[in-house]
Parts: sequence; C-alpha cells; structure tokens
Amino acid sequence: MTKDSPMSSVVPVMVPMPAERPYSYAVPEGMRVEPGSIVRVPLGPREVAGIVWDGSGEAVAAKKLRAIAGVFDCPPIPEEMRRFVDWVASYTLSPPGMVARMLLRAPAAFDPEPPTEGLRLVEGMGPDRLTAARERVLEMAADGQAWTKAGLAHAAGVSASVIEGLRSQGVFETVSIPPRPVVALPDPTFGRATLTDGQAEAAARLREKAGTDVFSVTLIDGVTGSGKTEVYFEAVAAALERGKQVLILIPEIALTQAFLERFHDRFGAKPAEWHSDLAPKKRERVWRQVAEGQLRVVAGARSALFLPFRELGLIVIDEEHDPAYKQEDRVFYNARDMGVVRGHIGGFPVVLASATPSLESRVNANQARYERIVLSSRFADAALPDLATIDMRKAAPERGGFLSPVLIEEMKKTLARGEQSLLFLNRRGYAPLTLCRVCGHRFQCPDCSSWLVEHRFRRQLVCHHCGYNEPRPEACPECGTLDHLVACGPGVERITEEVDQLFPDARTIMLSSDMMGGVKRLRLELEAIAKGEADIIIGTQLVAKGHNFPGMTLVGVIDADLGLANGDPRAAERTFQLLAQVTGRAGRTGRKSLGLLQTYQPEHPVMRAIVTGDAEAFYERETAERERAGLPPFGRLAGIIVSAATRQEAESHARALRRAAPRADEVDVLGPAEAPLALVAGRHRFRLLVHGTRRADIQGFLRDMIKAGPRPRGSVRVQVDIDPQSFL
Ligand code: ADP
Ligand code: ZN
Repeated sequence: MTKDSPMSSVVPVMVPMPAERPYSYAVPEGMRVEPGSIVRVPLGPREVAGIVWDGSGEAVAAKKLRAIAGVFDCPPIPEEMRRFVDWVASYTLSPPGMVARMLLRAPAAFDPEPPTEGLRLVEGMGPDRLTAARERVLEMAADGQAWTKAGLAHAAGVSASVIEGLRSQGVFETVSIPPRPVVALPDPTFGRATLTDGQAEAAARLREKAGTDVFSVTLIDGVTGSGKTEVYFEAVAAALERGKQVLILIPEIALTQAFLERFHDRFGAKPAEWHSDLAPKKRERVWRQVAEGQLRVVAGARSALFLPFRELGLIVIDEEHDPAYKQEDRVFYNARDMGVVRGHIGGFPVVLASATPSLESRVNANQARYERIVLSSRFADAALPDLATIDMRKAAPERGGFLSPVLIEEMKKTLARGEQSLLFLNRRGYAPLTLCRVCGHRFQCPDCSSWLVEHRFRRQLVCHHCGYNEPRPEACPECGTLDHLVACGPGVERITEEVDQLFPDARTIMLSSDMMGGVKRLRLELEAIAKGEADIIIGTQLVAKGHNFPGMTLVGVIDADLGLANGDPRAAERTFQLLAQVTGRAGRTGRKSLGLLQTYQPEHPVMRAIVTGDAEAFYERETAERERAGLPPFGRLAGIIVSAATRQEAESHARALRRAAPRADEVDVLGPAEAPLALVAGRHRFRLLVHGTRRADIQGFLRDMIKAGPRPRGSVRVQVDIDPQSFL
C-alpha cells in the first residue's frame, strides 16, 4: 500500500505493549475489519499482531497515522473476550495491551494451517499395468477416501514411488485434507458413571445450572476421593449438550495425565490440553481450533482463561484453593477470581471444586453469593486416613536424621505389607543452608537476599529465587579451611539419603519440580508410582496434587510447621490446605491408612484441625480472625513492590509514592518497608501495603496515588499486586 492511497476510516487497535489505550490505525480502502479482527500493524520499525478494539484509540495527528498492513484469516476475538481483557486490565491495574498480549500468544495460529495434500482414487481410471504392489494400493484406496501419500504407502506396504507412479497416470487426483482436530469430539452420553445418591443429587443441581445461560457460582466442597470430578463431569455434559464450549482449569495439568484418561472414560475422547509444556505446533492448533469452535473442551492451566473461545458456556475450576492459580509476573492475576469474572461477563455458570476450599470461597458461600454443595464421604469403601501428630520434642530423630522413630516404625510396617509410603517435604534440594563450622560463613546468593540451597546430586549451590548457581567448594571461601562445610536442615534429597540408609532394599523415588528430565520424566515417575513400582516416595508439593496412588497407605509429613511462620496472613489456611491435600493421598482404595505429621507444635490450631478432622471449626476460627482484622475477604489488600538497581533509589521512590497517597477514609497505606526478600536478582525491593475496607475503591485509590507520585525513572520499577498472595 502506498502512502497516499485513500483511507476509509480509523480504528483502535490493541497492540501487545504496555500502553494504556489502543493505538489508532487507518483502514486502507478495500480492507474489511471489525472489532475483534486480528490485524498486522506497523509499530516503530516492526510489525506486530494486534486486535481491532472498541471505542476510540489514542489520538494521532493525521500525518502520523499509519495504516493496518493486513488482516489475518482468523475468527474475530469475540466481544465477551474483549470485555474480559478490559476488565482484567482495569482490576489488576495492568496496561490492557499487556493483558491482550496473553491472548495473542500463538502468533502462527492467526492464519489457518495450510491443508495437507491428499490423494483420492479417480473413479474409472486404472493403471497401465497391474503389479502386486499397485494392487495393494488400489485395494486400500478403494473406499474413495482421501489419503496422504505417506499414509497410503505405509498402509499398503509399498514405497512412495509406487504411488507417485499411479498418480502420474491419473489414477489418483490431488485433494486437500483439512487440518486434523487436536482431539475427537466428546460425547456427553458416552460413559456415564453410576453415581451414589449424594453424588447424583449434586450432579442434578449442577446439570440444572449448566443447562442455562445464567451466571452462577457453585462450590463443590468434598473430601478428597469423594467423586468431585465425576460430579462436575455431569455439568460438563450438560454444557456440551447445549452446544457450548467448556473450560476446565486444573493446576499442574501437565502432571495430571490421569485426568485426561478419566475424561476419556466419561466422554469417549480426551479434552485438549493447554499449558506451557505443550509443543509449539500443538499450542497453535489448540488456539486455532478453540477460536474456530472445533474444540469443545479444554483442560488447562491458568493461562487457558485467555484462549479465544467463541461460545464458552461453563468454566470448572478444580482445586480452586490452589496458589498456582495466582500469576505473579507482568500481569498479576488470580485465575480463580478472573474465571468467576469471565463467567459473569459471559453469562454462564462457574463451578469451583476443592476438598479444602479457600476461605474466600467459603465466605462467599456463607453469604449466599455462591451455592455450596457438600460431598462428605469418600466413594465406595475408601475411608479417609487416620491422622495423628508426632511431637518432635518427645520423639526426636537420631542425630543427623530427620525422621522420627515413630514414623520409621510405621514405614517398616507399611513396607512389610507391600504398601506404599509417601514422605512429604516442601523443600527442593539437599539442604537449605550451608555454613562453615570454623568461621561461621554462610553461603548466600550474590544477587538476592537468600541462602544458597545445596543440590547434592548436581553438586551445586543454587539460588531458588534467581537461579544463580556455583559448584559446592571443598574449602570455605572465607577462611580457607578444608572439609568443614556443613549442610543445615533437610531438603527432599537429604530425606532420600536417610531413607536409602534406613531401607536399603526398598524401591525409592524422589520427586521434585527441578528434577532432571523435566515434565516427561515426572510423568513417567508418577505413573510408576500409581502402578506400585515404588515402595517409598519422597516428594515436594507436586505429589500432593490430585494424584490417585492406589497402593499408598502411609503419608508422613516431615515438617508440618514449615509454612506457618512467614508473616503471611494466609499461612495457617495454606498449611491446612496443603496438609489436608497431602494426607488425602493415602487410603484411596479402601485399605486402612495413616497420615503422620511431624511437628514441634502439636497444639497449633492447624494441627488440631487436621488431626480431629474438624475442618469446620478451623474455618470458623480463621473466618472470625480475618473478619476482626478486616483482611480478605472482609477487606481489601494490594501490594506495591518498588524495585531498583540501588537500595537508595528503591527506597526514595517508595517513600515518594507513599507521600502521594490521597486522603481516604476507607483506605490505609502501610510502609514502605524493606521487603523480606530485600534483594532479588540484583534488584533492591521495598513494599507498601494498601489496606481498604470491603467497599473501598482500592483500584481508584491506587491509580490516583500512582498518578500523583513520581514517574519511575532509571532502573525504578513499580509493580501493583491486587489481592496479593505473597508478602515476600
Ligand atoms: P475427588 O475429585 O473428590 O478427589 P474423584 O472424582 O477423583 O474424587 O473420585 C475418587 C475415585 O473414586 C476415583 O478413582 C473415581 O473414579 C472413583 N469414583 C468416584 N465416584 C465414582 C462413581 N460414582 N462410580 C465409580 N467410580 C467413582
Ligand atoms: Zn539469587
């Protein structure tokens, strides 16, 4: 297109940049775009993909107005999705362009995949002479269907040249085969489970809701193994029957492959997967086929919320309490909360499921904003494990060890019965701290305020915040003494070492997210465990989630107190959830099972709640405490993290921001204070905490404050975190 060709109109285009508003572009004569169209636009020296937006864009002088370069051959992003992007941007105080960027993550999918070339038998045409090979080919292709050359050659057991020969004689014609769907269509009537009475009642309620175009939120609150999945599958079926697309969010979907099998058993086809470990080609196909409506069900990680569904009619959020739903990078959002918003904008039901719901969801249910459905017993004869604490002050481990004799005794018995034990410790590596016994030197990350974690299998000291690593030296770098470095405290590697010494003949597997071999290896190990190919499993929190290990009858928590002392208002809730989930791995098939918590504070309310099974009392207490302190969901919180290359810059910017806070009755600002993690990857950090009443317009307050404050200059960065989960 040349500069002076006539322009018919100007439209706003949302580009994947940290811009507050869409930019304006001219639509060249003859080009057709509508709101939602994905277009190619010039931006500085480059071209980027953007979305034609609604309203008006940033004003531009006519001289500077540039033209849209092209329109992708792609279904437009639906209006609902555009409203959703605007809403998320406004709620999280992120530039809308950065939210739209999450929607534009599969650029190769904006144009349709080129069709595959296929061959089809031409009726009435025969080859000049018939060989045995040619005969086999003709027989195969006699059904009149299109074949790929390679597929036909393989099926007939001939070389491709045989087929090429036939084509050159006009026996085959070239046709195009459309791209293959990523998965087959699910059939809502395929493998209906016979539900128990309680399950059937819950399923009927859900079916009723999923059968309508009305926004609602239902919380399925059911103990681990009660059949929550079976029950929400009925809601999925009801939505599919209405011709709707369905999104199921699952934390760690890449590691819960068993879920795909269960879905297959129920619907006769797998759901499409969406997570960061998908191969790029697969990602593009999923994105495209979701946009075209060819894919009906996606099971994905939080980012699946930003897939371009064209007729979404149900979102299920499994393990809704899971902290993995919070993204803390660029756009800080909680996929559970945003999923509910998506349902509200789209006018369809949302289902939350958990054995240990978040306090927020419980309160929403108490206040009748959500409907709560309770499943109080495990399916069939599977009983919940017996739970007990081990008081580590009385049953101390041997010197240098971390397993109490009580736990070791139970592990012996479990092993003798041919059953599995799980030892849970939420700490990767060998030891969280290394120090020199001579001079007291501690190994610290040069770029972060954190200790280096020893990874003995890799022979490295690693920073878990920035990835910095160095080989573990023989001598202390401070005093030079040889062989006097000592590892303090346990990580899973160290527990594995202890287990190997105590049970040299047992088959052990250690699982941790940083294991060599990545997701593939983890999947294989998880399968092996489910098949009973290991006796003792040592793992971090990734073993706590959703897995079904039929042979597991003992769960030992190495350090039940680990998550309690970190200044986080949700520490007790989180610990309760994690402990309930991990002990819930035991006894899923009816055998008697046991969960043991090693703790120095057996009287702590969290430990009492787990051991007595009285979750209600715990929730009540926590709820009352939060209400008294005006903490979420009874009040509102936002974190502001100011970081910079020097401590002084970070601090002075944070202070200036504090001074810029408007006067407000319903909002307080706390800080700035140096962040507990004062240094990360070479950046110094200060935090402010904004605390408002439930009715406070905390976003409006923050916007005013940031606008009145100094503009971040030089290395200074300001990050707002609405509803923070992390206070580090
Ligand atoms: P939850 O999601 O509550 O942990 P699941 O849905 O995973 O529970 O069910 C636990 C186990 O019980 C699974 O192996 C599941 O297949 C089985 N199960 C639950 N309900 C039924 C049912 N009605 N019929 C057959 N199997 C069931
Ligand atoms: Zn570091």
